[in-house]
Amino acid sequence: MSELLHECGVAAVYHLPGRAKSPLCPEQGPGEVSRLIPRMLLDIQNRGQLSAGMTTYNPDRNQLIDTYKELGGVSEVFRLSHRGKYESLMRKYAGRAAIGQVRYATCGAEERSYAQPFERHHVQKHKWFSFAFNGQLANYQALRERLLADSDNYLARDTDTEIIMHEIGRELSQGDRPPLIEIMRNISQRFDGAYCLVLLNALGDMLVARDPLGLRPLCYAIEGPLFAAASESVALLNLGFAPESIKSLLPGQAVTITDGQLEIQRFAPSPRRAHCFFEWIYFANVASTMDERSVYLARQALGEELARLEDVSIDESTIVVPVPDTSKCAADAMAYRLGVPSAEGLIRNRYSGRTFIEGTDSRVNKAAMKYTPLREVLEGKRVLLVEDSIVRSTTMRVLISRIREVGRAKEIHVRVACPPIVSPCFYGIDISTISELFAPRFMRAGRPLEDTYAEMARDLGADSLRYLSVESIAKAVDRPPNELCRACLTGEYPTPHGQRLYEIALANSQNGSESASNGCRPLRTYEAHGAQI
Ligand code: SF4
Repeated sequence: MSELLHECGVAAVYHLPGRAKSPLCPEQGPGEVSRLIPRMLLDIQNRGQLSAGMTTYNPDRNQLIDTYKELGGVSEVFRLSHRGKYESLMRKYAGRAAIGQVRYATCGAEERSYAQPFERHHVQKHKWFSFAFNGQLANYQALRERLLADSDNYLARDTDTEIIMHEIGRELSQGDRPPLIEIMRNISQRFDGAYCLVLLNALGDMLVARDPLGLRPLCYAIEGPLFAAASESVALLNLGFAPESIKSLLPGQAVTITDGQLEIQRFAPSPRRAHCFFEWIYFANVASTMDERSVYLARQALGEELARLEDVSIDESTIVVPVPDTSKCAADAMAYRLGVPSAEGLIRNRYSGRTFIEGTDSRVNKAAMKYTPLREVLEGKRVLLVEDSIVRSTTMRVLISRIREVGRAKEIHVRVACPPIVSPCFYGIDISTISELFAPRFMRAGRPLEDTYAEMARDLGADSLRYLSVESIAKAVDRPPNELCRACLTGEYPTPHGQRLYEIALANSQNGSESASNGCRPLRTYEAHGAQI
């Protein structure tokens, strides 16, 4: 699926003082542990390719904390293919503590000034801080209005990241060096939505926190003097941490490092969890494990469920074809269970990425450029085309027509390893409005599912179509349903502001004036929809 763009990813690393050098430390020593950040960000690049950056702490430098960030992927930003430039960056920004971020614009413009971390300079060291964020605040608009109610306040950017920066700044102005956990405790009471935060200040103190619902993943590991945290476990595993050292930070918990002392504390109660199911189905790296469930095993279970439901006749012409890359795991599991080949009938151009090549300005052209159907695999075949989800359907339409025309497949049966997506996301995923979605156009109360799917298949140009049920998601992810966010499938949001935004979006979609979001949107949707709700 290329229709949904990822949110963001965060990373943090700290070499605790007064202990022997960690074997996982770069050869340059604990003072340059910041060198681990580009590696970690590369492992979570799947979560954002728009910009990358890091802030490092070095008490021997004039700039006690210093931030480097640019638009582009991790390799481009950190000049990973140019040894000299990379070395000079790593030396300039060397530090024994560092935070980093990769960004996709779920909120705010695609400009360098929106790249993270956000650094806020101050003459007092405890008030000079930098932080990065993964998630989205559903009550962004309310927080923004409250800040702007004071006519002396001004917000330069249209992003919840700036709101969070001001909320942290406000807390820092209370009292004499308030503990980081207190700051987190207070701001979390005002936040509604998804927020994983990494923060570093000019005293060298660090905060790593996960929102009380655990909407977005956040993992950490401690081995000897080395502490590291990242949105996904794969980044920690590839640093060399033992798998058993890598843990998910519990919702509502934070790791603080103050004066070199590490503590894990609760900053907010977490009466329920609401992990985003999409992380397992699509967003996360297949090598990651989040909240004790492997992404690979979850996708495999979805494929097995598709196989269990399959009712087309299977003969020697039947093949399973994954839409690369995230559907491959489910497709392979489905094919194995059905006893048919899983074949690479679609070849993905891995280098098309965020391209501005002439003629690729529309979603249709982008999809056509991204996948090439292989006639050698598809011709005369009954194709079970496995996709991880259908959001807007642009990609699926292009694929079906190209598999038929270029690939000359005999039949195309679309199998979606996810239930229909019927409502927007206000927690950091790029689904802004109901009207942009494919499934709601066909779904009517009381109508048999088979009729709905048949109409969808006709609309897409496929021979048949099947989704998985909402219930199958919790089974595949191996979590109780009430520990997952499935709001984009059910319209039941885990936070009050999310629910309220959905009701507004629903009303607007019914009267044709929809522009739903949390009021903070990527430039693309912002321009397309104009007025805010
Ligand atoms: Fe994830 Fe959907 Fe919930 Fe958004 S609404 S957090 S995409 S499950």
